[in-house]
Amino acid sequence: MDGMERPVKAVGLVSGGLDSALAVAVIRRQGIEVVGLHVAIGYAAGIVRREVAGERLDAILEEESRRMSGAFATRVLVVDRSTEYLDVLLHPRYGYGANVNPCIDCHLYMIREAKRIMEREGARFVFTGEVLGQRPMSQNRAALRIIDRESGLEGLLVRPLSAKRLPPTVPERDGWLDRERLLDIEGRSRARQMALARELGVAGYDSPAGGCLLTDANYARKVRDWMRHAGDAPLTREETLLFSVGRHFRLSPAVKIVVGRREVENDYLERAWEGRWLASPVDVPGPTALVQGIATEEDLSIAASFVARYGDAKDAPLTRVAARRGSEERLYDSAPAPEELVERTRI
Ligand code: SF4
Repeated sequence: MDGMERPVKAVGLVSGGLDSALAVAVIRRQGIEVVGLHVAIGYAAGIVRREVAGERLDAILEEESRRMSGAFATRVLVVDRSTEYLDVLLHPRYGYGANVNPCIDCHLYMIREAKRIMEREGARFVFTGEVLGQRPMSQNRAALRIIDRESGLEGLLVRPLSAKRLPPTVPERDGWLDRERLLDIEGRSRARQMALARELGVAGYDSPAGGCLLTDANYARKVRDWMRHAGDAPLTREETLLFSVGRHFRLSPAVKIVVGRREVENDYLERAWEGRWLASPVDVPGPTALVQGIATEEDLSIAASFVARYGDAKDAPLTRVAARRGSEERLYDSAPAPEELVERTRI
């Protein structure tokens, strides 16, 4: 308490993992009222999968908010920043990790969001579940200092799990938080967190949202390919969903094809990319292929050969394939694309 009647309020940035659940519990046991904030940047694998399957993002996030509020026993706001975040992905000031994960910029972005919510909610500080030394890129001392300096929070950003290994923050210096009851966890081992979870009775929150696609090498290849070939075209949310779907092949700097691997992906291509060239077999089950860019006649016929290769009649000499765009239609009797072409064009 701060001597006034109302308890001190804080905004806790929650990711869905155990560390943020522990951070919430460690702060709450000091009598602080916690408002959770989850910033949805749009690359949680499980959520992207559901969007591709046709669920609406706002409905998914509402469900996440309810689920997290229950799991953390506190109100958790979930904000959709998937469109705004496209710019962070393309222009990170602090670069990428091993794939296209701009983790330092990402943390900064989320903490700035938390600052806004702090001001709106009349909260006094922000905290996170970050653990010093746990992640190579974003949780080393230098990264934490950058985040402190650039977040504009100036001493109002607390990492309860590693607090005793970091300089005291304003909430500790002013007695809103007892530094002695914060922790000194450092490094990659999870043992301390597991013990703390048992001690505080915090069940691991098993997030159905899944890992971050930006750290996935397959996904990253498609993003990098887009960056090399997009020219002045803006990156759209739909494009970032497409990176997670199907097999991608680049036929030329201007043309790429995406071949669905499952029915749900074929349905997605037909639904979300209606109005573009879409090729699929006429007489047998098989994939849908999206042809992106300004396709020549030859590109369409190559796309048809990919459909033949990945369709149910892949061992037949020829497959009848229709390429359609709106009311236009072309028919091909296609041999399966040869291995050499597949390997040469695969993204
Ligand atoms: S892994 Fe993904 S969500 Fe996590 S900080 Fe990095 S970019 Fe952001």
